[in-house]
Amino acid sequence: AGSDAIALDPLERALEQSLRPERLADFIGQRELKAQLEVLLEAARGRGETPDHLLFAGPPGLGKTSLAFIIARELGTGVRVTSGPALQRIGDLASLLADLHGGEVLFIDEIHRLPRAVEELLYGAMEDFRVDLVLGKGPGARSVRLDVPRFTLVGATTRVGLISAPLRDRFGYHYRLDYYGDDELVAVVERAARTLSVPIEPDAALEIARRSRGTPRLANRLLRRVRDYAEVRGDGAIDRELALEALDLFGVDVLGLDRVDLEILRVLCVQFPGRPVGLSTLAVAVRENAGTLEEVYEPFLIQRGLIVRTPRGRMPTPRAYVHLGLDAPVEASS
Ligand code: ATP
Repeated sequence: AGSDAIALDPLERALEQSLRPERLADFIGQRELKAQLEVLLEAARGRGETPDHLLFAGPPGLGKTSLAFIIARELGTGVRVTSGPALQRIGDLASLLADLHGGEVLFIDEIHRLPRAVEELLYGAMEDFRVDLVLGKGPGARSVRLDVPRFTLVGATTRVGLISAPLRDRFGYHYRLDYYGDDELVAVVERAARTLSVPIEPDAALEIARRSRGTPRLANRLLRRVRDYAEVRGDGAIDRELALEALDLFGVDVLGLDRVDLEILRVLCVQFPGRPVGLSTLAVAVRENAGTLEEVYEPFLIQRGLIVRTPRGRMPTPRAYVHLGLDAPVEASS
């Protein structure tokens, strides 16, 4: 996923790995999801079967990858991790499937980015645990059937709208993850602080949580920046004052908005003040893909009461003007 706020470098990936919750009980928030997964996994274990394939949708950094690892762990099995962009040829998927051990979890991130032919091969594996491959071309071509051990596919996507109906229908369980509340993010920050052995006061954790865009990944990232500051400018412990200084130094927006969020608000408030703006116009103006705007950025801005979606287009709320330090035009505040 393309934004500044969600891109990950390798070092960060390693750090993230160390902060990943291991069991369902360590996974913070998302109560409904956890309750459902508990039943689903327990039932499968009781029957000695693999559970249905599971599809998780939602913005980046809310814990889809963590869930795949947790599911494998709760089932006492291994997990193979791959992604839509990494499976560009039929052979990529076929060799992965041939290599699976019975009962394993196969995690495919960004599953909406599988090429059509690869996706079609996956249908057979998901449904009948076998795939038919055509080897060679023309009159010499022959079809080979490959049996695949039973496995559980965990698919993740930020763009549920791009998943074809046949693929969607082959998942027996779907869940859409939503942004986390401040209380849950405080718990994420406190948990990460314990893992990193950083003392943090609850009101400092709250300041970090509030700027985390409802996203555990960002909460962890901001905590690391504040930790750096605490080590260099203090004695390593984090209180509210120090957290605020650090967040200010790193230019973290008070609502946790990233560059694209802020550009969206500027386009709506400054470029087209008081006028509804269509999705495609907005996409061109902020140089982002329209689908990403619709499924990653807008839900957050709407949830925070900064924009509204009207039948004629997107409009900023008075709160958006206030956030940018602008006066709202008369029409916009009506
Ligand atoms: P992407 O789709 O971008 O890969 P994701 O939704 O798969 O993102 P994860 O990689 O699972 O997100 O989560 C990012 C980090 O956030 C994890 O390393 C973990 O530390 C933390 N995290 C996510 N969800 C939770 C949670 N519910 N409880 C505790 N930590 C969490």
